[in-house]
Amino acid sequence: MAEVLVFVDHVDGAVRKPTLELLTLARRIGEPVAVALGAGAENTAAALAEHGAVKVLTHDASEYADYLVVPKVDALQAAVEAVSPAAVLVPSSAEGKEIAARLALRIGSGIITDATDIEAGDEGPVATQSVFAASFTTKSRVSKGTPVITVKPNSAAVEAAPAAGAVEALAVTFSAQATGTKVTGRTPRESTGRPELTEAAIVVSGGRGVNGAENFALIESLADSLGAAVGASRAAVDAGWYPHTNQVGQTGKSVSPQLYIANGISGAIQHRAGMQTSKTIVAVNKDAEAPIFDLVDYGVVGDLFDVVPQLTEEINTRKG
Ligand SMILES: Cc1cc2nc3c(=O)[nH]c(=O)nc-3n(C[C@H](O)[C@H](O)[C@H](O)COP(=O)(O)OP(=O)(O)OC[C@H]3O[C@@H](n4cnc5c(N)ncnc54)[C@H](O)[C@@H]3O)c2cc1C
Repeated sequence: MAEVLVFVDHVDGAVRKPTLELLTLARRIGEPVAVALGAGAENTAAALAEHGAVKVLTHDASEYADYLVVPKVDALQAAVEAVSPAAVLVPSSAEGKEIAARLALRIGSGIITDATDIEAGDEGPVATQSVFAASFTTKSRVSKGTPVITVKPNSAAVEAAPAAGAVEALAVTFSAQATGTKVTGRTPRESTGRPELTEAAIVVSGGRGVNGAENFALIESLADSLGAAVGASRAAVDAGWYPHTNQVGQTGKSVSPQLYIANGISGAIQHRAGMQTSKTIVAVNKDAEAPIFDLVDYGVVGDLFDVVPQLTEEINTRKG
């Protein structure tokens, strides 16, 4: 069976969830071979094996932390040359997409970004994308070279599928460009204790209907009752009620959680562009004609100041 390379996103050996989702998709099109780089790379092996990696190619060097992107591209290229895979899967983070694009260019292959699903096809893997502000769903495949595909978080379920996960050292020679952009400093982001917006399984968002920065506490309480990330519409962000880093939409972040709860958000096309691929969509809006209701699986016509606190209380009660 053909091997499929999966680029591992990890923090000091702790594998992030989108990589485990990639392993689920990789198993549909071949045998997953993981590529883990940097400090703690070998510590990823147990989790990767548990989720289907037959092999884990590892390499550690200070260049991965000290320089931007290119050392990882060099390593992934070395892995492609060593394995001759049927495809290369990379998480659709900003860094992942840059690595994937540079890799595709180097190996003369086509690339598909922001896939939301992958299935096996007669002529190679077929990727699903949601395009033109999520107005269309397309299926496409790479017709030249080794398909390089980046996949959005939450596109597949994490599944246990124990495999050998044999650790092998990857031989990497860094290119002249590898040390071109040095990291000169790092400032840890203040943690909210909530999951990362683009990776969260549940996102609770607030819009203009929240009517003030102080009222976002309601949205945060609902999010915390569900272990969710907090999102915001551009109207709420532009009003200064919530940071731009939390904006969902065309000019914000693109999310694809299992559950998206929109509160006081009308459902403008530019907002939909960033959340339409969510698996289950719930909206709370006092206007029964709001366009968001065309999109939802469950809709509550009501005042969010009545509905959201009751919902939060009910969830907390049932959890308790
Ligand atoms: C180039 C471009 C890019 C853009 N990018 C983005 C983007 O990335 N993300 C984004 O979100 N927007 C984006 N926009 C803006 C977008 O067009 C909308 O203006 C914006 O999404 C509206 O935000 P909203 O739904 O919060 O506000 P509104 O459209 O004003 O809707 C507020 C909703 O809240 C409801 N409401 C009010 N009070 C209550 C209450 N008490 N209880 C319940 N419901 C209540 C109202 O019925 C209404 O439906 C972009 C626009 C442009 C032109």
